[in-house]
Amino acid sequence: MRIGFGYDVHRFAEGRDLWLGGVKIPHTQGLLGHSDADVLIHAICDALLGAAALGDIGKHFPDTDPEFEGIYSKILLTRTAELITSAGFKIQNIDSTIALQVPKIAPYIEIMRTTLSELLGIELGQISIKATTTEKLGFEGREEGVSAYAVVLLDK
Ligand code: MG
Repeated sequence: MRIGFGYDVHRFAEGRDLWLGGVKIPHTQGLLGHSDADVLIHAICDALLGAAALGDIGKHFPDTDPEFEGIYSKILLTRTAELITSAGFKIQNIDSTIALQVPKIAPYIEIMRTTLSELLGIELGQISIKATTTEKLGFEGREEGVSAYAVVLLDK
């Protein structure tokens, strides 16, 4: 068994779509990034790569590479899952937390779980997504950005 941990942050910006967990969420701003800036998917990719000791998302999908400009993070997740599978690993479970003050994302959690479980070829019961505000503290609390944390368990 192998445990992995991932963490990511993206800042809010005008004129961007907000993608979280592979789902487009209505909001006045989106997250800024080279890709679609799906902070939850990025944290999950890093947790998967970390568990397999395969580096991090920046190593495999560098933000200096035009190939990844504007790319859907769902594609990055699929490609990360392929790397994990090629290395002989299987996902046991994923747990994650999104920290943000706005918008309210509770109504979207189940569709995020469904989306990610389908992309990863795992059961709904193997993926957990939670959300928290930071009680208006820090950059998330000031509505400047969103952070996400993920842990995964893999086995051979
Ligand atoms: Mg990122």
